[in-house]
Amino acid sequence: MQLIIFGAPGAGKGTLAQNIKKYKNHKHISTGDLFRKHIKNQTELGKIASSYIDAGELVPDEVTDDLIYSELKLIKKDFILDGYPRNIHQAQRLDEILEELEIPLTACVYLSIDKNVIVDRLLYRVVCQNCGFTYNLKIAPTKVEGICDNCGGELSHRKDDSSDVIIHRIETYEKETAPVINFYEEKNSLVSIDCSKYDLIDNFEDVWQTLLKKEVEG
Ligand SMILES: [Zn+2]
Repeated sequence: MQLIIFGAPGAGKGTLAQNIKKYKNHKHISTGDLFRKHIKNQTELGKIASSYIDAGELVPDEVTDDLIYSELKLIKKDFILDGYPRNIHQAQRLDEILEELEIPLTACVYLSIDKNVIVDRLLYRVVCQNCGFTYNLKIAPTKVEGICDNCGGELSHRKDDSSDVIIHRIETYEKETAPVINFYEEKNSLVSIDCSKYDLIDNFEDVWQTLLKKEVEG
């Protein structure tokens, strides 16, 4: 399947993408990784991107578009596009790219979630300062409070995990992505998954079936 994936912070976008990659052999195309790869390998596009980043400027859409084009040209099928398109201009450009490369888009997956559920999840999330392991104290508390089961390290909340900050992050995300989500809704490509109801690990096969159904229906 050829998927685009969107999800508010905390909805589980990373988890879903990792599962699709692991169990369904799809390539995970993240714009962040792509930039890093091209910059490290000093490709032409990498050099152009560096020139903006080094100057503290935003990389123009056209550069990101070209990066995606070059990657999709190689991959062609069974991928999850993550972090692109970010705006309507990029969404329109992606349409052109897919058409040119004759790649059918299966679905744009939007992971929606109730704000209160995210706040709950993130507030209960602690990270080991030593090994980086993440725990959810509500679902699976550690054996000893404040101590990592894995390595005995000290656990702490992520610095930005206060409820005001979390809600602001979600609202900003919703506001920024709304036009792109509408774009795919109008094209009848959108599949919304309410992650307040689904656990993306336990219900992964259900989610996958929903996407397969979309692929058949078109
Ligand atoms: Zn640890």
